[in-house]
Amino acid sequence: MGTARPKQYLPLGDLPVIVHVLKTFSRVSAVTEILLVVPRADVPHVRSEIVGRYGLGKVRRVIAGGRERQDSGLAAVRAETTDIVVIHDAVRPLATPALVEAAIAGAVCWGAVATGIPVRDTVKSTDAEGWVEETLPRERLCLVQTPQAFRLEILRRAHERAAAEGFYGTDDAALVERTGTRVRMISGLARNIKMTTPEDLDWARWFLEKRGREMGEGATEMPERVGCGYDSHRLVADRRLILGGVDIPHPRGLLGHSDGDALIHAVIDALLGAVGGGDIGRLFPDSDPAYRGVSSLTLLARVCSLVKEKRFEVVHLDATILMEKPKLAVHIPAMIEHLSATLCLDAGRINIKAKTNEGMGFVGREEGVAAFAVATVRECGR
Ligand code: MG
Repeated sequence: MGTARPKQYLPLGDLPVIVHVLKTFSRVSAVTEILLVVPRADVPHVRSEIVGRYGLGKVRRVIAGGRERQDSGLAAVRAETTDIVVIHDAVRPLATPALVEAAIAGAVCWGAVATGIPVRDTVKSTDAEGWVEETLPRERLCLVQTPQAFRLEILRRAHERAAAEGFYGTDDAALVERTGTRVRMISGLARNIKMTTPEDLDWARWFLEKRGREMGEGATEMPERVGCGYDSHRLVADRRLILGGVDIPHPRGLLGHSDGDALIHAVIDALLGAVGGGDIGRLFPDSDPAYRGVSSLTLLARVCSLVKEKRFEVVHLDATILMEKPKLAVHIPAMIEHLSATLCLDAGRINIKAKTNEGMGFVGREEGVAAFAVATVRECGR
């Protein structure tokens, strides 16, 4: 950066870069405590001038890091006791609470999650003299960012092993990959750049000012949109009953080209409705053999990508299942878990209700199952 002060303490708008990060993490309800790892000489300054001055109550401890970034990571995992740990660079001030929540929801489900964005430019490798060796397949490459989230025991094992073997990686996920544990990649944000050059700070200032202007014009947040969805399927013999991705023991199941999961189909239509994406039948036609017997969670994952491509983030989901028998209440937590993992959405933002139809109509006669869903999404820019 070419300045005397480390870049995490430089001003960005009204606040130092690092305070933007700490405020973002503080706003996430699932974050119970923040452990700050800083150079040993900075510890007193950070305690008084950052944590004390800006009233950052979730910062429980400020500890001294090591020589390299990874040494600081090791110090952090040794000091940490929570089940899920989220690692974030202090110089990425434009991450959002929703992104942190998504990383946490992913770690709960898969154990290890990195955030990344697609590569837009063509990528080639070159030899030492600058001759092109190879053009890499761009579709499968990701530019990796933080936050990265892990179950503590997975990350601790990875760090201890790397330390014992003297291996240094460029991110925490790389250490986990070496232990054989698979790391799941989820969508990051293009704007979540690392403040590396003075131009990055200029760009971040411009971005925050622009967003401040947009928010000043009446709205307190980016605009929200709502979509509704409905679906029904016939109950027949010799089919599994799958609702919300959960296999429910029952003598009959739902007839359909896919697995007949009426709840997920209603949720898909609600999401598509909110982002102006048409409907499930247009996206996944019955006539296409590719979707025969497919898990509706697979379809939901594709719709989730589409929501992100259109630059929306899901804020909340609410759904109601109408089914006469059996009682579904015991299966609802598992349904929420499936939706949370597939959408990388905090479980606290998903609500599912189940009720009978009091013996009336096709639901009451146990001829079929119906589901309604409402999705709220917010524009998230890039
Ligand atoms: Mg359907």
